[in-house]
Order: sequence, then C-alpha cells, then structure tokens
Amino acid sequence: MNGTGCLDQHARPLGVLRLSLTARCNLSCSYCQPDGREAKNLLNQAQQLSLINACCSLGCHTLRLTGGEPLLAPGLLPLLRAIQKTRQQKEGPLDQLRDIALTSNGLLLTAQLAQKLRQAGLKRLTISLDGIDPDVLAEISGLRGGTAAGQALLQKVLEALEAAEAAGFDPKQGQLKLNSVIQRGRNDHQLLPLAALARDRGLELRLIEYMDVGQRNGWRTDEVVPAAEMISLLQQRWPLEPLGRPGSGTASQWRYRDSGGDVGVIASITQPFCGDCNRLRITADGIAYTCLFSERGTDLKPWLTPQCSAAALPEAIKALWTNRRDRSSEERQQGMSLKGPRAEMAYLGG
Ligand code: SAM
Ligand code: SF4
Repeated sequence: MNGTGCLDQHARPLGVLRLSLTARCNLSCSYCQPDGREAKNLLNQAQQLSLINACCSLGCHTLRLTGGEPLLAPGLLPLLRAIQKTRQQKEGPLDQLRDIALTSNGLLLTAQLAQKLRQAGLKRLTISLDGIDPDVLAEISGLRGGTAAGQALLQKVLEALEAAEAAGFDPKQGQLKLNSVIQRGRNDHQLLPLAALARDRGLELRLIEYMDVGQRNGWRTDEVVPAAEMISLLQQRWPLEPLGRPGSGTASQWRYRDSGGDVGVIASITQPFCGDCNRLRITADGIAYTCLFSERGTDLKPWLTPQCSAAALPEAIKALWTNRRDRSSEERQQGMSLKGPRAEMAYLGG
C-alpha cells in the first residue's frame, strides 16, 4: 500500500503519526489538566510497532512521541531501539520514516537519557517551558511550593536543554526547540523573557495559542493571546521578517532581522491550519483521533490482536483516514461551536 493513495475527504494525505505513550504527567499545567491516572489497556511494544508500521505504509514520514509526559513511559527507549533495530534488519514501511521527534516537559531529561535517546534514533526534541519567573512557572505548571518549586522546575528545564544539546540535538538544525503556551493574564508577560532566553541559547521558540482542547481547563476566548499580538510584541523589541508556514506545518515561521534566529507561532485558534493537516493521533491505549477536537476516537485494538491478519490494521487506518472530514478549528472560526464532550490534551498527546 502506498501513501499517495491515502487521502482524506479534503484531499489531505496522512503524514505524521503522533503516538502517545502515556496519559500520565509529572506536572499539572493549568491549560492541560492531565488525569493523574493511566488509561487501562496500554498498548504493548508489538502493538505500537504494528501501528507505526501501518501508518508508514500509508505515507507517514514523521513519528512524534508524546503524552502526558513521554519520559515517564518505561517503554520509550525500548520502542526507539526496536524501531532502529527493525530498520537495520530489513527493508519495510519503517524506511519511510524521515523523522522521529519527542515532546517533553524536560523534567526527567538527564544527560545520560538524552544521549541514550539520541543513540536510539531520536532526531528532534521539543521541550515545553511557559515562563522564566519562578512564581508564574509554579502556578502554571500546577506545582505546590511556590517560588522554590518554580525555581527548581526552571533549573531542571535549563539543565535538560543543556543535556539535549550536549547529546547532539542541534538547535541550529531544528533538532531542539522550545514550546510555550501563552495565556492572557497568566503568563503573557513572560513572552519577551522567554524569547530572550531562546535567542540567547540559539533555540527556536514556538509560541502556542491557548487552545480549547478538552473541557477541564475552563478555556475562555479572552484568555487567548492571538498569534498576531504575540508577533507584534516581539516586533517591538526585535524586528522580524515573515517566512510563512511550511506546508502541513503547525507553526508560522518568523526570522529575527538581527540574526537572532527564528521564532514560530502556532495560531490554531486565530489562523487555523486545518486545510493541510496531515496528523493522526493515537493514544497510549490505542484510540485514534483524526483531530484534537474530535468528539470520538476509533479504538484500533481490535486490529491489534494476534487473530487479526497483518493487512487488516493498515486497511482499518486507511478507512479511518479516507473517511476523515474534520476541520474543527476552521469551523470554530466560521462561528460553528465545537460539540462536546471532547478528550483532554494529555490523553490525546497534543
Ligand atoms: N508533557 C509534554 C509537554 O508538555 O511538552 C508533552 C505533552 S503536551 C500535551 C504537548 C504540548 O501541548 C505541550 O507543548 C503543551 O504545552 C501543549 N498544550 C497542552 N495543553 C494545551 C492547550 N490547552 N493549548 C495549547 N497547547 C497546549
Ligand atoms: Fe503535563 Fe505536558 Fe500537560 Fe503540562 S502540557 S500537564 S507537562 S502533559
């Protein structure tokens, strides 16, 4: 089966698999609000590999591992190693994979783990950090312990960034980036300090509009800082030139005119990019979602049993993708309200 044939109802090809390894997290960010408990029936490594294989056979070129906090998943390194081994041993769908990336809050990223991840074939790492003020950080990350807890978190994330760079994740080649969700009234005053930190370290900062994923975060429109406003704030300090949004990418790219590097804005609320969305999300317990705002997912576990033929899983995913017609962010912008109930971000994997 070949990826060029796998188009959805809006002619969008499948390109990226975002595979969640756990719904659990060691933080409780106010905009995300994870469950605190794991889903039942987590996929095992063989099932994860089957899914990755099937998606690659349908055209996926990028695998992003996520969560919850993926570094909490004991299966992360073994999975990367298994992918690497399979690719070394035989030709197959995994040869399609150009990129394996991970999104993490960085808390558990030691120098040793960063090296192991790199050696196991991880190509890109995105670390999330929403401020440099310890009080803001503690509050937004759901840490009890005030300033001291926020300071400790900042220190750990800065160490994680250093560990990643030392392990070979090169920010100049886009292999190490920083994600920040900006929420009005909570951390919007951290935007410039975060940008300064990223510039100092040669990291691309990706500023994310606060999204109405799930239902626990109590999302309100007036808490969204539109991407245009974020760019305008940056422009006043460091002039920028637009680079545009690469096809199927989530971030609109900008370049500092003083050679300070690049910055991206993910404007999923104010400038939706449903039109070329190529992402399939699969949760840690095997539920596939074709959109962050889907009302329902599709349980792929029935196709992950030993009784099922090898061809059945790609057929099931192909059927799911070719029937896909969601474009929820664009519909929201056109005044249609999202229907609930919807899955939470830490379960979906972002
Ligand atoms: N725990 C990891 C982390 O925080 O990077 C990976 C999972 S997290 C769900 C993936 C990304 O989603 C993070 O960059 C996080 O900031 C972002 N995110 C979570 N909830 C969000 C929301 N309501 N709006 C926008 N971005 C959100
Ligand atoms: Fe955890 Fe990431 Fe959600 Fe924050 S955004 S609570 S770090 S899963």
